[in-house]
Amino acid sequence: MKRIFTIITILISLSLVGIIINQNSALRNMIFLRREQIKYNVELSTRMVAEELSRHKGDNVMSLPKMGTVFPDEFSLDLFRPVSVSGRFTVDQIRAKFIHAFEQNHLENIPFEFGITSFDRLGNMVFEKASPGFLQAFQDTVNSFIYNCALQAQSGTAGENLTIDEVLFVAIPNLNKLVLKSLFWRITISILFTLIILAAFYVTVRTMLAQKKIAEIKNDFINNMTHEFKTPISTISLAVDALRNEKVIQDREKMNFYSSIIKEENERMNRHVETILKASQLEKQEITLHHTPLSVHSVLKEAADNFKLQLEEKKGNIEFHLNASKDIIEGDEVHFSNMINNLIDNAVKYSKETEPPQIKITTASNGKFIKIKIEDNGIGMSRDTQKRIFEKFYRAHTGNVHNVKGFGLGLSYVKAMTEAHRGKIKVESSPGKGSVFTLEIPLMQQTV
Ligand code: ADP
Repeated sequence: MKRIFTIITILISLSLVGIIINQNSALRNMIFLRREQIKYNVELSTRMVAEELSRHKGDNVMSLPKMGTVFPDEFSLDLFRPVSVSGRFTVDQIRAKFIHAFEQNHLENIPFEFGITSFDRLGNMVFEKASPGFLQAFQDTVNSFIYNCALQAQSGTAGENLTIDEVLFVAIPNLNKLVLKSLFWRITISILFTLIILAAFYVTVRTMLAQKKIAEIKNDFINNMTHEFKTPISTISLAVDALRNEKVIQDREKMNFYSSIIKEENERMNRHVETILKASQLEKQEITLHHTPLSVHSVLKEAADNFKLQLEEKKGNIEFHLNASKDIIEGDEVHFSNMINNLIDNAVKYSKETEPPQIKITTASNGKFIKIKIEDNGIGMSRDTQKRIFEKFYRAHTGNVHNVKGFGLGLSYVKAMTEAHRGKIKVESSPGKGSVFTLEIPLMQQTV
């Protein structure tokens, strides 16, 4: 079972890592392809625009009415001056052509800048025309995608080889951002699904661990229960055998002795059944409290009386320091004394084998609360144990604690009941030195 669990966890972890790596590379691939696709379409569109712009470049060498009217004196010269694209089209006209070409190539609303350059006599590049943001985009070579295309008169036209050299530049600012934006939903969805798988895996592993813990606890509980019932059952069986003995039947004293053993063991089993029943009632929240005014001091004394015999046997004692000036609370008599009984029982049970139990019970009160401290000189417990003792079924598994039997239900009951009395409980302890349980219960408020 444990091995299957480990194998499943490892396998799922491996496949998760695989899926994530795969997903990552698929995403990168997708981004790369989209970038190349955009670039290709930009190039295609630019070539379309360039072709259109230069379509008539060669035709009009001999007839330039506009240029002729603007510069009438140079008319004859102008007639032979090569036509430039930048001279024929305004920025807005060129922009419109770009937008049209981009639309044809599935690049609607793509941000772009453009410019047309020519060369002066020294061969330096000169910008003839450019959209307002072109220079900035053109210089940002890191983020912009720049493409250029020569504007030449078409072969076979009159202007071939006569026109001046011009180059059409297009710059797409922040190409990467554009690519990511166009893939936003696909990236988001794939990240989201990956996160969902991770979360589901986490929850599954946690649930499996919790189940494992529950299975262990159940096992422990059944072991404990079997042990707890086995002892009285075998004691009773022995006592009954003894009672059948002729000699014992004759002897009244012995008869009494054996029957009292049977009675005692019977009561012990009854207490166990009660404990288990109480725990299940607690879980189903079936316990209803009947609050009455209670004197904490008298409950403490009565509870201590129950342990007189056990303490005598172990040569221990209980010391009282009942300093609280007010000790009346509103509580359920049965459950409140059960709580105190459980705490004293633990103080006696978890005593050291080498030292008699010395238990100190102290109370103190302020206007609102009564503080009850139950202190022992027993085996104590580690920090980790202290954190878990109030959990149902929890029992410390170290040292000689295992010699002492129980169901691990006592303190979870004490805690639930303390809370039902609107109180608090805390524990301080150090291994080998002893433990202190402190209860803080609200005092009954006098309505005068
Ligand atoms: P149980 O006594 O039946 O095991 P409890 O809920 O009463 O169950 O106690 C839980 C665990 O807390 C015990 O198994 C023991 O390890 C630890 N514990 C409780 N009280 C004391 C104490 N006074 N001193 C040392 N350990 C204690």
